[in-house]
Amino acid sequence: NVEDTKKVVVVGGGITGLSSAFYLQKEAKEKGYPLDVLLVESTHRLGGKIQTVRKDGFIIERGPDSFLERKKSIGELAQDVGIADQLVNNSTGQSFVLLEDRLHPIPKGSVMGIPTELNNFFSSGLFSLSGKVRALEDLVLPRSNVKGDQSLGQFFRRRLGNEVVENLMEPLLSGIYAGDLDKLSLQSTYPQFYETEQKYRSLILGTRKNAAKRPTSPAPTGKVKGQFQTLRNGLESLVEAIESKLAPGSVLKGVKVERIEKEEDQVNLIFNNGQSVIADAVIFATPHHVVSELFEPYGLLTQLKEMPSATVATVAMAFPADQVKQEDDGTGFVVSRNSDFAITACTWTHRKWPTTTPEGKVLLRSYVGREGDEAIVDLSDKEIEKIVLDDLRKIIEIDGEPEFTMVSRWKKSMHQYTVGHKQRIEKSFHEIEEAFPMVKLAGASYEGIGLPDCVNSGKKAVREVLDDLFQ
Ligand code: FAD
Repeated sequence: NVEDTKKVVVVGGGITGLSSAFYLQKEAKEKGYPLDVLLVESTHRLGGKIQTVRKDGFIIERGPDSFLERKKSIGELAQDVGIADQLVNNSTGQSFVLLEDRLHPIPKGSVMGIPTELNNFFSSGLFSLSGKVRALEDLVLPRSNVKGDQSLGQFFRRRLGNEVVENLMEPLLSGIYAGDLDKLSLQSTYPQFYETEQKYRSLILGTRKNAAKRPTSPAPTGKVKGQFQTLRNGLESLVEAIESKLAPGSVLKGVKVERIEKEEDQVNLIFNNGQSVIADAVIFATPHHVVSELFEPYGLLTQLKEMPSATVATVAMAFPADQVKQEDDGTGFVVSRNSDFAITACTWTHRKWPTTTPEGKVLLRSYVGREGDEAIVDLSDKEIEKIVLDDLRKIIEIDGEPEFTMVSRWKKSMHQYTVGHKQRIEKSFHEIEEAFPMVKLAGASYEGIGLPDCVNSGKKAVREVLDDLFQ
């Protein structure tokens, strides 16, 4: 019966919106629900921040390049759309921290910078003797008595001292969040370290116990398998596979949702092309600043405006292998803020992801820009290329110029979960639940920026929508 058919609109065609639309249609089909799904994306392509360029035999990721295998949702999604056979793990090798013009190996056994193998920690050139001794205070310091949230900086500086934080943790974490450790929320980024402290008191001892419990799975070659995965032909394969599974006619590209109006228990979505659609439920899978503007006329979600997003750029450079002298076994490095460099990290992509690079070539992917240090991203491609190349030449011997360079800018893209994030998100979900119960918020702005977290947030929204409409 057509009258019983429910209409669900998903706004935003990044990984969150794509997986939401896919799982809505999958479950409706399996359970026989009368459901009509429409995915609306403002640009002319799907994938959002996932963007792969296949060029001259290289597979270049402009945005994310991989995801953590142990967070299962992407592996399951790949399975559900029939491309699980394309999943590949990273090759493991030595990663480094760049400190004062030198590459220092990340001490073996450190977990997010927390030392667990003390002999390796003590022999590291990353810290002074007094910095090392200070870190050991963690073994005797009592638990912190902070109730509620605190910054990563506050928490880790107290336990391990400034040197470990600045020379190792901050570079590792800023590679993920492009953020400022002294502003990022412990509760919303790494609550497990707070729990470790509460349970074991010492972070070093607790992390050591937790690490011992985790099995390491050997790869068929006998080498330890990398903990990240991508798809052999780039992450965009996942986008393409999902798109091919969506019901014909259920995607609208190049159309932006500009306004919303509440119509009793439905929502009217008004597009920039003058058309509109009435929906029984809506999943907003756009960055938070988009929803905070859409709901502003209703006085809702104003707290999301306070949430900053950092601007970054990735810079991929291809060389003939004989032009670049490489560290043995190196897979990349992160940069300490205590170094005079513009780049914040660099992956030796050909080493970490051999399937991305043709034989006899080298692919280096650097990052520039982070919270509070973003002006570089506004320079021209040529200027950025020069700055990155000058930085790289200080630490790697590179002859001549790259075969090509690809600069990808990501303006206001790395959402910052600052102290108090969890409370702001709970308030936002609550406000929407009260005023627009047929609307769900999902995506990287709320409960995890990683690709698997995004898929999980989409699935959670799908569950709520289907329960509301059909239970
Ligand atoms: P998006 O991908 O931002 O998609 C939102 C979509 O909504 C966009 O397509 C946008 O055009 C659309 N939209 C916006 N407004 C409207 C509107 N009004 N109407 C209709 N459509 C609209 N994560 C990892 O797990 N591993 C990594 O290696 C990794 N590296 C990263 C590197 C970079 C440079 C960046 C920027 C991020 C990285 N991340 C990584 C994070 C991850 O890529 C993102 O968190 C994730 O892709 C976000 O997906 P999303 O669907 O929530 O949002």
